[in-house]
Amino acid sequence: MAHDNLIGGAWVRGAHYGINRNPSDPDDMIGEYAQADAAQLSAAVQAAQAAFPAWSTGGVQARADALDRIGAEILARRDELGELLAREEGKTRPEAIAEVTRAGYIFRYFGAQCVRLAGQLLPSVRPGVGVEITREPMGVVGLITPWNFPIAIPAWKIAPALAYGNCVVFKPADLVPASAWALAEIIHRSGIPAGVFNLAMGRGSVMGDALVTHPGIAAISFTGSVDVGRRIAVQCAQHGKKVQLEMGGKNPQVVLDDADLGQAVELCVQSAFFSTGQRCTASSRLIVTDGIHDRFVAAMTERMASLRVGDALAADTQIGPAASAAQQEQDLRYIEIARAEGARLAVGGSRATCHTGSGKPGYFVTPTLFTDTTPAMRINREEVFGPVASVIRVRGYEEALDVANDTAFGLSAGIATASLKHATHFKRHAQAGMVMVNLPTAGVDYHVPFGGRKGSSYGPREQGQYAQEFFTTVKTAYTLA
Ligand code: NAP
Repeated sequence: MAHDNLIGGAWVRGAHYGINRNPSDPDDMIGEYAQADAAQLSAAVQAAQAAFPAWSTGGVQARADALDRIGAEILARRDELGELLAREEGKTRPEAIAEVTRAGYIFRYFGAQCVRLAGQLLPSVRPGVGVEITREPMGVVGLITPWNFPIAIPAWKIAPALAYGNCVVFKPADLVPASAWALAEIIHRSGIPAGVFNLAMGRGSVMGDALVTHPGIAAISFTGSVDVGRRIAVQCAQHGKKVQLEMGGKNPQVVLDDADLGQAVELCVQSAFFSTGQRCTASSRLIVTDGIHDRFVAAMTERMASLRVGDALAADTQIGPAASAAQQEQDLRYIEIARAEGARLAVGGSRATCHTGSGKPGYFVTPTLFTDTTPAMRINREEVFGPVASVIRVRGYEEALDVANDTAFGLSAGIATASLKHATHFKRHAQAGMVMVNLPTAGVDYHVPFGGRKGSSYGPREQGQYAQEFFTTVKTAYTLA
């Protein structure tokens, strides 16, 4: 079935169609999805501009009701949407259903936020004058999302954008249009006026520039790689647009001598390998102190041997495939780079076959652990974005903190320890936007700020109340009484 773009409230045929395939079984074709060109993109922006005056002033109850309906439908259909997501992106069915559930809650949360957009009333320094500070929508916002969270990341951009009165042009990752289309179809039927929300599927290399530089776009919210993010930041600066970037990570997980070994192993396995390591918050640098190092490596090796890799939809699969052939190649390339740099391969390190014995040629990679690595190695400096982690041995807490912070990124950082002193110090001194104590670096709540520092992020935080910083602009009004 061919799936069209949504422009001005109508489904519009694309100039071309791309085929969406299942990474667990590339012979399984999920569907054909429209590819917008620059002209269609421009039509989407114009439709959003036309819808903006009424949507932004039409009252918050209509917005709250629409977002609530969208959230309710997503939650009611979580199993079906989760299956679609697992089939197109490759995370396991339970992981995919959890992602869909999160998307539903995000819409419900921002439905409620519609009526909570508070301002401030201050006395003026001039007698008889009052000062009001209020927030207004930005206008038409362009939302660009990556492939690794095909419904949650779109949800955490679209929901606040609409809640605060903006109109949207949404460009999902070309690799995962099915979840985006399903979400758009739900939004379309939610009762929001035509043009308020527009879907423009297709390749970023074809229409990215047209979206980012379009004079009708007031702001761009982007999640994806550092290279594309930086390019977009430059374009936004040149064209005077507000920009928000969430990019890569090389997240550290510190394990101290006094950590509970079983707990530390479990949280490292979860955050390094679950979702095939394809999470910006995945921990890929396991920084382990001398006294626990050997026991930790032995326990990790044993635990990893039991992980079942295979078809995302098969019962009992714990680790799905890489999302694409290109991502699988990247994972294998970094494994070779690590070997060549002198890292010791403890577990994995190759293509895998499906644990069910189906023989399907999915893009499977064995969860891989390197030991005897140094902070300077490329495997510890560059984002792999696959089920690949490395152990860095350190003498004690101070060195662990230094190594954890020795990175160009700063998204999430974790520590496993029984020491309140070290946990407290780490929370204060880890150079990351999110810090986890005795929890995996990946796995966050939907109602609190999400984002990082250094090369991981640029601009205001996403999610929770902090989302209003990006999706609104502040006005200061003076009135003579
Ligand atoms: P990507 O290649 O940068 O693509 C992200 C999005 O940008 C896609 O929709 C892509 O379209 C689009 N794009 C590509 N070129 C563009 C251009 N010139 N102008 C405008 N848009 C353009 O990233 P990805 O491979 O999809 O995602 C993986 C990356 O995302 C990793 O680095 C990961 O760490 C990061 N990530 C970060 C977070 C976070 O919150 N910090 C969360 C998730 C993922 P196409 O699909 O057509 O290429």
